[in-house]
Amino acid sequence: MSLNNYIDLRSDTLTIPTPAMREAMARAIVGDDVFGEDPTINQLQEMAAQATGKEAGLFVASGTMGNLVSMLTHCQRGEEMILGDQAHMFIYEAGSSAAVGGIHPHTVPNQPDGTLKLGDIESAIRTDNDHFPTTRLITLENTHNRMGGTVLTAGYIQQVADLAHANHASLHIDGARIFNAAVALGVKVKQLTAPADSITFCLSKGLSAPVGSVLCGSHDFIRLARRRRKMIGGGMRQAGVLAAAGIVALEQMVDRLAEDHANARKLAEAIAHIVGLSVNLTSVQTNMVYFDLDSTLPFNADELCRRAQKQRVRLMPSGTRRIRAVTHCWVTSKEIDTAIQVLDACVKV
Ligand SMILES: *Cc1c(COP(=O)(O)O)cnc(C)c1O
Repeated sequence: MSLNNYIDLRSDTLTIPTPAMREAMARAIVGDDVFGEDPTINQLQEMAAQATGKEAGLFVASGTMGNLVSMLTHCQRGEEMILGDQAHMFIYEAGSSAAVGGIHPHTVPNQPDGTLKLGDIESAIRTDNDHFPTTRLITLENTHNRMGGTVLTAGYIQQVADLAHANHASLHIDGARIFNAAVALGVKVKQLTAPADSITFCLSKGLSAPVGSVLCGSHDFIRLARRRRKMIGGGMRQAGVLAAAGIVALEQMVDRLAEDHANARKLAEAIAHIVGLSVNLTSVQTNMVYFDLDSTLPFNADELCRRAQKQRVRLMPSGTRRIRAVTHCWVTSKEIDTAIQVLDACVKV
């Protein structure tokens, strides 16, 4: 089931809607969601709230929009958010916290397992002093994209939540791939989200829906978030045609994420045996494999990706000598075998 005849491992965002999703989209009963009258969106929001153990959900256009709406709801202008220096919200969201929200991002180092050290968070939290912005929010990312799709455990998340709450701050989880984390840990998503005040997750990545994310939190939080979503142009009318695919995603695409994880593991273990390539197997916990070109190879990551693409395998350079491969439902176990052969051949040429 490859995409356009490529074994496309660049990202799980490349997944296209499944036939069951197309069907559900065609049949979806819709209404004006700004009036709260789209039954399909309401159903998706309820399912999302239930999955994350929160009171309410809010359908948004993207993970970036969900994170921004969350930040705008938690923080006032001039307040501060603590997050990892490798966080998607810090690196890949066009500076939205500062540009749109006037919210000051305060980074602490991400550890190789995707965590932030509790001591680092604690020292980053501001004391009450006229010189400082007020710390209002802490955010965690689960799974952690830049650190290799690594998983944060419920116990760790609880510790960070306790620290936040003891300091009059809230905890938001950027859970773009929280379902991957839950499947990898063998727990329910709500166990990972229970300690947090808010959570966003993406329907459009490994879950294969075409568009959309859901922000979840308390009734009061989501009521305020709805207004902020409207403010930034995210009130979407008959978007039930999109939510319909999201419902199929939650019903049919969660448990199978384990296959993607098995494929990523198989790919990583094979790469570990290819002379010229190195991979840190301990960080391969879900559907991502980051690997490096050894200095002995006389070409860089761009060149290796070009060579692979000629043989119909697409990979994403993520540094001059670093490459990312992401498994998803449109890549089979057999195609992973092919990708392994192609990589093996490409480093030899
Ligand atoms: C993809 C991603 C997002 C943003 O999602 P978009 O739908 O692409 O805006 C946020 N956080 C993480 C960790 C992601 O991987």
